[in-house]
Amino acid sequence: MSRQQLAVQQARRSFQTGRTKPLEFRIQQLRGLQSFIQERQGDIKDALQKDLGKSELASELYDILVVESEIKLSMTKLAEWAAPRPVEKNLFTITDEVYVKPEPLGVVLIIGPWNYPWSLTLLPLVGAIAAGNAVIVKPSEISSHSSKVMKELLPLYLDKDLYQVVEGGVPETQELLKQRFDHIFYTGSTTVGKLVMEAAARYLTPVTLELGGKSPCYIDKNCDISTACRRITWAKFINCGQTCIAPDFLLCEPSIQNRVVEEIKKSIKKFYPDSPNSSEDYGRIINQRQFKRLMGLMEGCTVALGGDADEAKGYIGPTVLKNVTAESKVMQEEIFGPLLPIISVDGVEEAIQFINEREKPLVLYVFSYDDKLIKKVIAETSSGAVVANDCVVHFLDSALPFGGVGHSGMGRYRGRHTFDQLSNLRSCMIKKLTMEGFNSMRYPPHTDRKVSW
Ligand code: NAD
Repeated sequence: MSRQQLAVQQARRSFQTGRTKPLEFRIQQLRGLQSFIQERQGDIKDALQKDLGKSELASELYDILVVESEIKLSMTKLAEWAAPRPVEKNLFTITDEVYVKPEPLGVVLIIGPWNYPWSLTLLPLVGAIAAGNAVIVKPSEISSHSSKVMKELLPLYLDKDLYQVVEGGVPETQELLKQRFDHIFYTGSTTVGKLVMEAAARYLTPVTLELGGKSPCYIDKNCDISTACRRITWAKFINCGQTCIAPDFLLCEPSIQNRVVEEIKKSIKKFYPDSPNSSEDYGRIINQRQFKRLMGLMEGCTVALGGDADEAKGYIGPTVLKNVTAESKVMQEEIFGPLLPIISVDGVEEAIQFINEREKPLVLYVFSYDDKLIKKVIAETSSGAVVANDCVVHFLDSALPFGGVGHSGMGRYRGRHTFDQLSNLRSCMIKKLTMEGFNSMRYPPHTDRKVSW
């Protein structure tokens, strides 16, 4: 029996004992997760520094705090989320008990990515524990230091049989995917997302796919361009552009392009006064393969800003590309790095058409003073999320269901949405063995008198 098979078997057996059912048990496990994060912050930050050159503060902001607040929210709200949810009654159910009862699904597989290896793996874990499931966590092998810390330390804080970390690369993940799960929660590329869904189909296992794509950002000329560019610069270059919800490319009219480049340049100078290369706040490209891919994407484009790189350090400077066309190499795949192409459009109509001719993105960003224009963009396009006059920050609001649509993914999570996603929302109807007079109407024979009644 493979170690993947063994882990799933052990998790399933433990789940079948029913010990995840009481809410007190789930709270106790969430408390364990909370202690892990509090006590092992040093190990987590150290691993993130080695994997992605993340500064302490960036690790705290994007990988730690968001998980801590999700745990707190889940502990506070668990009783409310898990309680039976009465539904509206009608003439036929007026005397019945009708409600929806969330119940655990069983064994959930969480496959994590490397770009935010802690938050994007632990956020679904929080919801899976809250919903009463057993979990197999498969961290990304590419962020190897984080994966190792997760494997060695996380099990010390949780029930060892119910929640297991299984390390491994592609062959090990494929072996895991041969096992039967009750839900698979995958965060990563669209290509692998399709393989996950294919494997899940074998057992009709439901999937949540948090995928990527090219998230567009339209800047209207009627806008505070300086503020817009500051927010875009921050969102694009955190984690060296390796953020699934980073604006992938800009769309704007030619008349404001030079101003946009100038404002981005000013923001970069403000954020990294000496240079991004020597700044603690600017990350590194995860590995050589990604470095080479990103350098290749710049081919054939005009570098308006940045373009500097140091392969030995995994450094690519914040880069803006001009005169990019829809046919350019950089527009053929998700960038997932610090390159920001600007595409010329002749106003909002053309921007909307450009967006609608492509796969539905994970997020769509629009900057404008004009509320009507913003509403028009929302009404005439589709995406997992849309954010006006800012970027990335919607991820911090756990009230908003996070996820993609079409090629950017399926399923939603964060806060209560994760709980619901990883629960069976069971419909319950409890009738009484009385009122047969009323019920007799549905029994045959269906005489004229019954039908006309
Ligand atoms: P990836 O798809 O290469 O890897 C993710 C996971 O899949 C890893 O655990 C890896 O071991 C596993 N995997 C890789 N190849 C596999 C295969 N052939 N068979 C089975 N398993 C396999 O993704 P990545 O490079 O880690 O992340 C980058 C992508 O993820 C980008 O497209 C990005 O937009 C997307 N992403 C999306 C979100 C989101 O929330 N929607 C968040 C982060 C990243």
